[in-house]
Amino acid sequence: MAGNKTFTMIKPDAVEANNIGPILAMINKAGFKILAMKYMRLTKEQAGMFYEVHKERPFYGELTEYMSSGPIVAAILTKDNAVTDYRKLIGATDPTKAEDGTIRKLFAKSIAANAVHGSDSDENADIESNFFFSSLERF
Ligand code: UDP
Ligand code: MG
Repeated sequence: MAGNKTFTMIKPDAVEANNIGPILAMINKAGFKILAMKYMRLTKEQAGMFYEVHKERPFYGELTEYMSSGPIVAAILTKDNAVTDYRKLIGATDPTKAEDGTIRKLFAKSIAANAVHGSDSDENADIESNFFFSSLERF
């Protein structure tokens, strides 16, 4: 059965461009509720831990540098079929390939600075949520 939670970050480029509000509005409009949320800045080491699966990829250094370059918004979202529906709402990793009306099409600057993160599986949604939030921070 598909899970009902996903994890997201509004990435530094979207925060810098004052797009926290518009992105959260799209998330709520699409039927997601916010279970947990924080505004914070990752160290390069923390960004490296979060993106550990991409450690061997050529873009890892640039990605962790970028993800620690400014504050982000981290959140746990809930909705039926949260992971799949949220991936649809954000669009393809490369914003030039993202469908019209998706968050990345509207707000992403580049394939690296692509406005938002979205979990790719229920299992990773749990792992990523636990990386950022304790049980006392979820409502
Ligand atoms: N990324 C990048 N260059 C690439 C592919 C990915 O800089 O060629 C960055 C981008 O910020 C992306 C993140 O690495 O969101 C994680 O990559 P993944 O393939 O997991 O994409 P996502 O799940 O975020 O769509
Ligand atoms: Mg991914």
